[in-house]
Amino acid sequence: MPTVSEALSLMDYGPAPESPAVALDWLNGRIFGHFIDGAFTEPRDPFDSVNPATGAVLAQVSQGSEGDVAAAVKAARGAARKWAGLSGGQRARHLYALARLLQKRERLFAVLESLDNGKPIRESRDIDVPLAVRHFYHHAGWAELIADEFPGMRPHGVCGQIIPWNFPLLMLAWKVAPALAAGNTVVLKPAEQTPLTALLFAELCIEAGLPKGVVNIVTGDGRTGASLVASDVDKIAFTGSTEVGRIIRRATAGTGKALTLELGGKSPFIVFAEADLEAAVEGVVDAIWFNQGEVCCAGSRILVQESVAERFTRRLKARMATLRVGDPLDKSTDIGAVVDRVQLDRIRGIVDQAVAQGAILHQAPAPNGPGCFCPPALLTDLGAANIAMSEEIFGPVVALMTFRTPDEAVALANNTRYGLAASIWNENITTALDIAAQVKAGVVWINGTNLFDANAPFGGMRESGFGREGAREGMLAYLTGASPKGRPRKAPGALSPLPAGTSGDAVDRTRKLYIGGAQKRPDGGYSYAVPGAQVPLGGRKDIRNAVEAAHKATGWSKVTGHNRAQVLYFLAENLNARARDFAPRDEVALAVERAFYWAAWADKHDGRIHSTASAQVTLAMKEPFGVMGIVCPEEAPLLGFVSTVLPAIAMGNRVIAVPAQSNPVPALDLYQVLDTSDVPGGVVNIVTGPRAELADTLAKHDDVAALWVFGEDALCRNVEEQSAGNLKPVWTEPTIRDWSGAEGQSRDFLRRAVQVKTVWVPYGA
Ligand code: NAD
Ligand code: MN
Repeated sequence: MPTVSEALSLMDYGPAPESPAVALDWLNGRIFGHFIDGAFTEPRDPFDSVNPATGAVLAQVSQGSEGDVAAAVKAARGAARKWAGLSGGQRARHLYALARLLQKRERLFAVLESLDNGKPIRESRDIDVPLAVRHFYHHAGWAELIADEFPGMRPHGVCGQIIPWNFPLLMLAWKVAPALAAGNTVVLKPAEQTPLTALLFAELCIEAGLPKGVVNIVTGDGRTGASLVASDVDKIAFTGSTEVGRIIRRATAGTGKALTLELGGKSPFIVFAEADLEAAVEGVVDAIWFNQGEVCCAGSRILVQESVAERFTRRLKARMATLRVGDPLDKSTDIGAVVDRVQLDRIRGIVDQAVAQGAILHQAPAPNGPGCFCPPALLTDLGAANIAMSEEIFGPVVALMTFRTPDEAVALANNTRYGLAASIWNENITTALDIAAQVKAGVVWINGTNLFDANAPFGGMRESGFGREGAREGMLAYLTGASPKGRPRKAPGALSPLPAGTSGDAVDRTRKLYIGGAQKRPDGGYSYAVPGAQVPLGGRKDIRNAVEAAHKATGWSKVTGHNRAQVLYFLAENLNARARDFAPRDEVALAVERAFYWAAWADKHDGRIHSTASAQVTLAMKEPFGVMGIVCPEEAPLLGFVSTVLPAIAMGNRVIAVPAQSNPVPALDLYQVLDTSDVPGGVVNIVTGPRAELADTLAKHDDVAALWVFGEDALCRNVEEQSAGNLKPVWTEPTIRDWSGAEGQSRDFLRRAVQVKTVWVPYGA
């Protein structure tokens, strides 16, 4: 007699197609215009939206021009003041109405999504649409609570939002719901491959009685997206490829537009010998074969411990053979159609290269017919340098490698430019959490994968972008604090050369750089003069040395907040004891106070536990970036230095600080205080010299993970542009802060010094 699982695997499913009629009736061969100021415009410059499973044209949509974008932004601007002026409770009603309507139309949305994108109806029905509904309900709640929970904060104004094709409706919900809850109005551009559910959503906005202009939708391709980025918006929120993310980073540099980027990934899926292998195999199904692998956080690199690799691979292949590829509207389809021909060719191209580089491909034949189908695939026998280990494939293709020790697993996991997500399989929760702490990823799932919830922050590290969506963190991305009211900053005057006949080293008024806990002559060895002293002229090489020293000081990021607090209190005491040696006089007492203040925070700016799925707790850990650059304000040479560098190190970062160019002496003299306070070498590195050049080097440096620049417009613009390399988050501030008051100890310094890692841990059930 066959076992139950054999019987199940032998069972032949009959086709069980969902009817497309409901969606096709709605589409009715339409040609859509844009949705601007509460109404659809006349269609212009139409292009096809295609069903990738059949090649059939579903509808036509308009290619948005610069003028269309401008009209949409104008409408959003016109609606902004009134929308922001509503009470949180009033906005909550609107979001709640949208959630209710979306829920009422679940079936229509699910079918339309599957038609336009090619994803299986089971997914659009059970995952995409319910999560989108959940997102609107959750954010109706935030709107209600906004005054209580985000006191003193206000919306950005008009937000431009650009989304990809892999979760068209869900990405819309992730963007629109928090923006509206926070009081912003929006112009959203859906992906050109999948614009239809966004247009259906526009109809919901009318039906829900949303005020005109609060939501605007402009369709079109990347050119329309570029117009939106260039338009008069206050914030850009982008989800898509890292390549386009870089373009947008450069395009928004120096414009003052707020920016969040959710970019690509190459997430590790780590299977330890102690894992529940059956569960891990199902995990792979969810992680990579789910949604045709078109998930940015897909666990597309399996790292499996050597001792179980053979067993695991065997089971994986067996499971792969049971997956059904085909008609997305068939309820028993596991893998639907890839979004379009371009993407299918891209997947095949990378797989071919991987095989040419020595990988072995395991894959079933593709179904016949005109659709864009890619059967699930497994690549084995590949080296760490294989293209399939580094390049995002964005298809149902997973690459498998083995590891021996946990350390090796971490090293392989982090051997990528990305840092979006990671999935860790180990029944030994101690090891699993230890690995979670070491993996560089914005989201980590323990014994699970691809779990999402409106109340769990989602977003990447490194070249996977910055900013978080979902939960409180996501709301913060659509709000702005009280910004400093001061005048615009000006560039400091040119460096004054040494008086003729003096050579730096000979004079005891000569200061040195402070790198890796030691005083260093600058690379050039020359000095420049400020009143009362000769100052080292540091250059690119000194910055590189300082970054290297900071990198080595990893211990600081691992010690407890309590330990860091103790060091910072000691520092505050020592500064106080030596107060007489420091100038400017009016800053010294305040600097001592500030040092005590940030010491107090060292063990208190902690994370949260989010309630999400029933059998999970979701930890939002606040982790330091690691190595940060800080270009300190000119206007307060001592207090500005202390007020920026100390919160950064209090949160566990190691810093390369560039003090005020016009008066770097007080900052340089702090080295003695740092030394006597047991601040480990490499935690604070001080490099003086031509500020613009030093800032530029920090912005370009791949091993600097975050950068703060308090400087004039041109400096801010340049560092934002140059940061597009490793896409480090950059905080620039071109207006003068009042360092003596509340502005000098804003919570922003804590928020900007950490990044959230969301860790999903099994709990209960
Ligand atoms: P893409 O970056 O080309 O397109 C994404 C969106 O940006 C589309 O709406 C597109 O029209 C628009 N766009 C293209 N060029 C633009 C430009 N110059 N200026 C402004 N907008 C522009 O990405 P894709 O290849 O269509 O989508 C797949 C990529 O998206 C993958 O690399 C994937 O990793 C990424 N992705 C990331 C996430 C995430 O949350 N991190 C989610 C989904 C997809
Ligand atoms: Mn389509």
